[in-house]
Amino acid sequence: MKRQITILGGGYAGLLTALRLARRARGQLDIRLINGSELFVERVRQHQAAVGARLRSLSIPRLLAGTGVSFVAARADGLDLARGELHAQGRRFGFDELVLALGSRVDRSLVPGAREHAFSLDADIVPALRERLLAVERARGSVVVVGGGLSGIEMAAELAERWPHVPVTLLSHSQLAPELSRGAREYIRRHLLQSGVQLHEGARVQQIEPGAVWWSSEGSATAQRSVAGVCIWAGGFAVSSLPREAGLLVNAREQVIVGDHLRSLSHPQVSAVGDAADVEGGASGRLHLSCKVAIYMAASAADNVARRHQRLAEAPFVFSDGGVCISLGRRTGVIDRRWPDGSVREQSIDGRSGAFFKELICRYTVLRLRAERAGLWPLSALEAPRQLPTSAAPRIAA
Ligand SMILES: Cc1cc2nc3c(=O)[nH]c(=O)nc-3n(C[C@H](O)[C@H](O)[C@H](O)COP(=O)(O)OP(=O)(O)OC[C@H]3O[C@@H](n4cnc5c(N)ncnc54)[C@H](O)[C@@H]3O)c2cc1C
Repeated sequence: MKRQITILGGGYAGLLTALRLARRARGQLDIRLINGSELFVERVRQHQAAVGARLRSLSIPRLLAGTGVSFVAARADGLDLARGELHAQGRRFGFDELVLALGSRVDRSLVPGAREHAFSLDADIVPALRERLLAVERARGSVVVVGGGLSGIEMAAELAERWPHVPVTLLSHSQLAPELSRGAREYIRRHLLQSGVQLHEGARVQQIEPGAVWWSSEGSATAQRSVAGVCIWAGGFAVSSLPREAGLLVNAREQVIVGDHLRSLSHPQVSAVGDAADVEGGASGRLHLSCKVAIYMAASAADNVARRHQRLAEAPFVFSDGGVCISLGRRTGVIDRRWPDGSVREQSIDGRSGAFFKELICRYTVLRLRAERAGLWPLSALEAPRQLPTSAAPRIAA
């Protein structure tokens, strides 16, 4: 019987793992992909969808057609690692190896009222957010975005460009995007202010209530109230509790802690990729939750599953950073360049060129999936595996 490999989560990481593993395994493995829905979500474009952009609809079964990967549209609600079983909506799926590609969600548990009165850029929330934004725009209301990280910045800039007459406030508890170079940060700050965004850095949000956000400035005990026809919470990410509940070793954010072969430190029959994984020791540099990291992890994990099956030596995950890209609406963007180890280079591309490259990179993420499916992406892009003597072959507990 063929070895069963289940991949849970059909985002950038899960889909690429499935497509690449299918190419590597050439029919030798039984590969299954389970995802909550049949549609692939372009998460990097959710801020565009929120202001009304119609995103193309990408069907996962269609992307997988002809690859031999079987697809199940179901939400997993339990894992029994001792039995090698995944539970999803009353059904049980056995596996020999599991790849967790569960992604992340915006964490709205951090401030009272956020869950009840704020929207997020999660794909299942965005349709309601879009409706609410349209209503607020018609009523000449205002929007408050909480979170000065990349998704909060992108959201505020998108709103200011789409509806320049709608007052937008951006609250950031620290300075804007502290991980960016000074030049990139300055550019973004200037752009937001010129677009009319009211920017408050060092603003700690205390509570969100219907129609308003309470916050205080760093060092001040006085709370301020910003009126919000809509509040968009972009203040941090959290990962599914499923891995922790199953007994996997996780970090404080509930990401699965993996070694440099992307296998769980506590359960080697489980690998984790993308936002759901935390590589122990950070040997591969500073990894941000991002598509670029998700895609590289996926390719590495798929290759290692195939290598184990072929009794070849696994190769460690190596990530070489190129830069961080941020859109500021449709006409402006910033590519903040990095050294390969992820450190800031103090060199960026901005303005229309920044927007052009950012759009190219967003398209690349989907193109990369299609290229893998069509067999156009070279398998040799990763270091060729070395044959191991049988006794030294990596072992996976059944
Ligand atoms: C607004 C926004 C803009 C962003 N912009 C950028 C950007 O410009 N560049 C960049 O690199 N990154 C960006 N990111 C981050 C990037 O989107 C994530 O890092 C990336 O999506 C991670 O890929 P993933 O495959 O790990 O997770 P995801 O893309 O989140 O996919 C996870 C999948 O798992 C499924 N799933 C989860 N739980 C279950 C379950 N229990 N059962 C079944 N299926 C399940 C989900 O439905 C989803 O399909 C942005 C994020 C947001 C929110």
